[in-house]
Amino acid sequence: MTDATLRAADADTANWLSYGRTYSEQRHSPLRQVNDTSVARLGLAWTVDLQTLHGLEATPLVKDGVMYLTGTWSMVYALDARTGALKWRYDPQARRDHDKLMCCGVVNRGVALYRGRVYVGTMDGRLVALDERTGTPVWSVQTTPVDSPYSITGAPRIAGGRVIIGNAGSEYAVRGYVSAYDAMTGALAWRTYMVPGDPAKPFESEALKRAASTWSGQWWKGGGGASPWDPIVYDPELDLVYVGTGNPSPWYPELRGTSVGDNLYGASIVALRAKTGEVAWHYQTTPGDAWDYDATQPIVLADLTIAGVKRRVLMQANKNAFFYVIDRATGALISATPYATMTWANGIDSTGRPIVDSSTIATSTSATVVTPANFGAHNWNPVSFDPSTGLAYLGVVDEGTDFHAVDPAFVLTPTDRTLGRDPRYRGPRLAQSLLANPHGRLIAWNPATGREVWRVPHPVVRSGGTLSTAGNVVFQGRVDGIFAAYRATDGQRLWQFDAGVGFAAGPMTYAVGDTQYVAVLSGPPALYSDAAARAGPGRVLVFTLGGTAALPPPMAPRGPVPVPTYKVAASKAEILEGGALFTSYCSRCHSFTSNLVKGGAVPDLRRTSPAVHATIDSIVLGGARRALGMPSFAKDLTSAQVRLIQAYVLDQAVLAARAR
Ligand code: CA
Repeated sequence: MTDATLRAADADTANWLSYGRTYSEQRHSPLRQVNDTSVARLGLAWTVDLQTLHGLEATPLVKDGVMYLTGTWSMVYALDARTGALKWRYDPQARRDHDKLMCCGVVNRGVALYRGRVYVGTMDGRLVALDERTGTPVWSVQTTPVDSPYSITGAPRIAGGRVIIGNAGSEYAVRGYVSAYDAMTGALAWRTYMVPGDPAKPFESEALKRAASTWSGQWWKGGGGASPWDPIVYDPELDLVYVGTGNPSPWYPELRGTSVGDNLYGASIVALRAKTGEVAWHYQTTPGDAWDYDATQPIVLADLTIAGVKRRVLMQANKNAFFYVIDRATGALISATPYATMTWANGIDSTGRPIVDSSTIATSTSATVVTPANFGAHNWNPVSFDPSTGLAYLGVVDEGTDFHAVDPAFVLTPTDRTLGRDPRYRGPRLAQSLLANPHGRLIAWNPATGREVWRVPHPVVRSGGTLSTAGNVVFQGRVDGIFAAYRATDGQRLWQFDAGVGFAAGPMTYAVGDTQYVAVLSGPPALYSDAAARAGPGRVLVFTLGGTAALPPPMAPRGPVPVPTYKVAASKAEILEGGALFTSYCSRCHSFTSNLVKGGAVPDLRRTSPAVHATIDSIVLGGARRALGMPSFAKDLTSAQVRLIQAYVLDQAVLAARAR
């Protein structure tokens, strides 16, 4: 596979050679054996259980009958694309305890293929090149400081003989950057930071010097954030690499020392020159981001005719609920149109800036409620674009978040692991007050006109990525385990399959011989704590016309929460305090609605036995279960606070037992 192969990927109908299928990342396949008439006969061809309950987010790649994909803990699998038979598996032995430094689960979104190699970014920050035939490592480089809160969940991309990789971590104290490595040797070609560093030292570039004027206080001490954790899209014609960056960190402007200031290049789409990494242009979607809106949603390239003029554009359905269309040569904003409910902004001004409603910015003296939620009106889930219908297809969520007032003295440090849930910096919780009934849907969006063309309301809040095909079909899975096909032109549902386990990932399609297949990974990430989410084993599901394979039997349902017999004396106020501590220190893994808990990967604390309750300090403070992934909180909590958490958990157990 060469640069020429990648450039010609659209004409290679059988294969799916890179994350978004082609350099444009439109995720639209020319295959049409499965079409709006035949899709009714779609059935399961094969499944592979990846033996994980931690959720799957990857898009499989297929080249010449072999499927390459990633699972949890950054593992890589090569499967026979016709049968699912395992050809090889690579376990990078990522440090399991690095998960405490990852905001959103030990997930990975996939690999890149190039010149006989398979490239993967690991959760602990390595970039590894594997031999395509055997899975044997050829080279490996550490792209981030070891033992720091940086991680990698995104798929690498190939641009002009180099592997481009970003990193995650803006929920902690990091300074985001993009790196380019020589694909053959692993030598670092360039690295571009997304926020300025300590101004006492020389800035790495003029762009960062300019960016520094948009910050104040001592932002560099907490890193500044702006992690480019998902989209990296290469345009070979312009030789530009487009990346989306995460929020400036911490989330709250007042804690960044900047109640005013744009905080470049946080929450921005940034174009980099592929040869040097130099910033060619930027467009900041959320200046001075106060809501964790990021700009890390999929970036899709297309040529659109807008008002009679052909434009080379990039598109993004941002977490902040604006759908952006941008001239990708110059960075000029063409349009920004709301595609979901928003309260943080009242439109875009004539210079392309959002008109912010400042009452939605939480400070040390005011809490607030905002829509979209920090989870976003749309998140990382892949978006497809069908150039024949001119429509983009995506899952959308209307939901609000409650942001607490913050302690202005709070400092985010590289060792903080409460993900901003430290009681002095209370992370948002979903606001019942604003949208008591958050809801989700699939929409078809016309980027040329800024109009929604059709919508399918979902009975659940969260849904997965999309795939469209020349067969006039759009595929999408939902968090409740339904995977369905819709007519691309009008949204009519044509087919559905109950997988028993929820979806977040993007589907893809390929052909081997005369047969078209549709593939998707099931397994909702822990963070998808939708009430309707169905947890369960992460699987590769592959469909074909007339497929008759059966799903493995579903997991046995759990019995109701038993009435607890262990007692901790506590007042109502103490139980409430225990609840706040639980939210800060426990809920990231043990939230009762988390898929980790529902699937059984992490204990449901409401079911804790009296014997375990009696020795709980040895686990929470003594680290007795460290080997199982339960960290010690000896530096964070006192024994008296552990009692309060116990009182809260027992109270919740009584409530659940009564509710059955
Ligand atoms: Ca973020």
